[in-house]
Amino acid sequence: MSHADIILSLRDVQRRYSQPVDLIERLGRMLKGGGPPRSVLAVAGVDLDVRAGEVIGLVGESGCGKSTLGRMLTGILPTSAGEIQYKGKPVHKLSGAARREYELGVQMIFQDPFSSLNPRMRVLDIIGEGPVVHGLVKRSGKEAYVAELMQKVGLDPAYRFRYPHQFSGGQRQRIGVARALALQPAVIVCDEAVAALDVSIQAQVLNLFIQLRREFDLTYFFISHNLGVVSHISDRVAIMYLGRVVELADTDTIFSRAHHPYTQALIKELPVLRTGQRQFDPIKGELPSPIDPPSGCPFHPRCPHVMDRCKVERPLLKDINVGGRQHLSACHLPPGPLQANSPSFQETS
Ligand code: SF4
Repeated sequence: MSHADIILSLRDVQRRYSQPVDLIERLGRMLKGGGPPRSVLAVAGVDLDVRAGEVIGLVGESGCGKSTLGRMLTGILPTSAGEIQYKGKPVHKLSGAARREYELGVQMIFQDPFSSLNPRMRVLDIIGEGPVVHGLVKRSGKEAYVAELMQKVGLDPAYRFRYPHQFSGGQRQRIGVARALALQPAVIVCDEAVAALDVSIQAQVLNLFIQLRREFDLTYFFISHNLGVVSHISDRVAIMYLGRVVELADTDTIFSRAHHPYTQALIKELPVLRTGQRQFDPIKGELPSPIDPPSGCPFHPRCPHVMDRCKVERPLLKDINVGGRQHLSACHLPPGPLQANSPSFQETS
């Protein structure tokens, strides 16, 4: 991968939140001689290169830090440590025209099409005001610009004077897509962008994303808790667990040769297309609290392959590829398929 191909780079990106402390706890700390307030490392150090034009899927359970990471990519949230680069330049050092290029160039589509649109604004203004304010289009050309975008996302331009409540959920998400496209971005971060929609509408909106990617030469960072949704659209998939990427590979490799037991468990949770039923047990246990993460491998309390070493030594993300394509995994198990008689492969009756 040449540096020219990389549009976004993440280097040890972290986000820490301090736990809110109430008055009684603060007084208690003062009496005991202080001590820093407890903090949560929501994103605990992510390294990732996103190539121009590719779709990266980021998958993990609710609370794993994936939405926080998405917000840091778009600049909505600052990083606590580490660095994000856009087209090779650290975003925290950008100013002037370069800052503006980044802010317009990386847009976000949110999960909830019901709350992410201003209910008091007409669709014409929701989609068209941003590009006018940023000088991408003249005010006199706004209506024609919005009409063209509405057509591109499958909405009738005749509805441009309507308000968000006059549209269905799927149509509202299309408005959100048009609003993002209107700023002529290079990268769109989609945060659970189809999760709030009915399954049949989800497929339509996913197809729209695929079509727009070709037409506008877009790069997507597609965040979802649902590996099945991500597999339809992604070139590569990153699996996130408790603030860290634990496996990263192209989509085919993830489905045919997943190495990390957490990825394997996510795959086993997917319903089988033919029967609509799950093949195996869902993942045991719950995501541990990031306030007090487990020692060693953070997945060890739930892992069917746990060894003594896993409880004390955190596995680093390393390349385990055999065929030349990058395949990163953070697990102490040796590369290669798991044994068929291992606990996680016991089929349930
Ligand atoms: Fe399981 Fe150990 Fe691998 Fe963690 S390092 S996923 S506990 S086998």
